[in-house]
Amino acid sequence: MVYEKYGTVIVGAGPSGLAAALTLLENGYDNVLAVEKAAFPRSKCCAGYITEKTKKAYGDFGLDVSECGYSLIKDFNIIRRGEKRLGIINKFLYTNRKIDRTELDFGFFNLALEKGLNVRQNTHIISHDVKNNTLVFSDGRGVEYENLIFADGTSGFGCRYQKNKRKNIAMQLVFPSGAPESIEIHFGVTKRGYAWVSSCGGVTNVGITDVFKCKKDYKSVFENFLKERGFSTDTRNLKSSFTPIGTRKPVINKNVFFVGDAVGACDPLTLSGLRYGLQSGKKCAQAIVKNSGGIYRRYISGLKFRFLLMKTMQKIFYLKPVQFLVFNVFCKFFGGFVSRVFNNFFVNKK
Ligand SMILES: Cc1cc2nc3c(=O)[nH]c(=O)nc-3n(C[C@H](O)[C@H](O)[C@H](O)COP(=O)(O)OP(=O)(O)OC[C@H]3O[C@@H](n4cnc5c(N)ncnc54)[C@H](O)[C@@H]3O)c2cc1C
Repeated sequence: MVYEKYGTVIVGAGPSGLAAALTLLENGYDNVLAVEKAAFPRSKCCAGYITEKTKKAYGDFGLDVSECGYSLIKDFNIIRRGEKRLGIINKFLYTNRKIDRTELDFGFFNLALEKGLNVRQNTHIISHDVKNNTLVFSDGRGVEYENLIFADGTSGFGCRYQKNKRKNIAMQLVFPSGAPESIEIHFGVTKRGYAWVSSCGGVTNVGITDVFKCKKDYKSVFENFLKERGFSTDTRNLKSSFTPIGTRKPVINKNVFFVGDAVGACDPLTLSGLRYGLQSGKKCAQAIVKNSGGIYRRYISGLKFRFLLMKTMQKIFYLKPVQFLVFNVFCKFFGGFVSRVFNNFFVNKK
């Protein structure tokens, strides 16, 4: 086989892969190929909420998220076991008007094309020879790379090189509805996760998350939740996906890198992965530019400790006495304080 030669090949054109590609292009590395198994605009199972910091991270790459249908839904409610515990004037969580990420990902993808990215869509890996730095794709073509970046999500091709397979499950359904504009975050629906109901512009997105247990019937949990919230909609379009819990190996073989969900760059407590995806893609590309894998390893070590902390918080937060304190004491008597912490913590830290 004749192999085409590239400086860097990126597998997956989601936020993390495109962030890596854009950073390489900015630094004059134009011998880059991105390979994407879907065709844009493609849908991704994700609620697509973004915080102020994520908005800024997209802005730094040159993408204005308001042009991708993003704005603030002001009415934000925290609910436990069907009972409203706190109402917040939301200042931190931006949402697409279709409560969907398709528009955001398509906007970012088009930006990368404008900047000159070479992308092959509808193409996935058939085989990978780690020793000889070669890949063969579903279109029959082969490539030889100097550096390879796996940006193909929690369960993509790259995950075969990883040991840490712990994950959260997340399911969601988007359907037309006349529900008023609001965001609801529900606790007590799953054991170690939360549920959401977001409505805007005639569309509702309902989702649940939990630490994944293979014997649990999450579809029934989801359907019961829908029923309790008074939605009688067809669940045939119910989508589910995983998010990683904890970081994974950032580099193997000195020139094979992992970014975004593929390296576990997703907050295990909140499932906020877009900002970490952008950041890890950028850091990985910077490490390639500086020819120093150590830069990227150190960045992932930092994330490891942050996520360990979030994982511990996840364990503590879902304990029954803590839930009682948070919802029956803090939300009831210190609602204003909790709102400020919510808005400021998420605006400043996430
Ligand atoms: C239900 C749900 C809700 C979520 N909600 C939020 C949220 O509100 N806010 C937030 O910040 N995060 C959220 N997340 C997390 C977020 O979706 C991820 O962290 C983020 O998408 C990671 O970006 P990525 O680029 O690493 O991977 P992805 O976005 O998964 O992109 C991977 C890309 O690789 C492609 N691909 C996969 N395999 C191959 C292959 N073999 N060859 C070529 N291409 C391949 C895929 O088609 C895809 O385009 C949610 C996750 C789920 C599951």
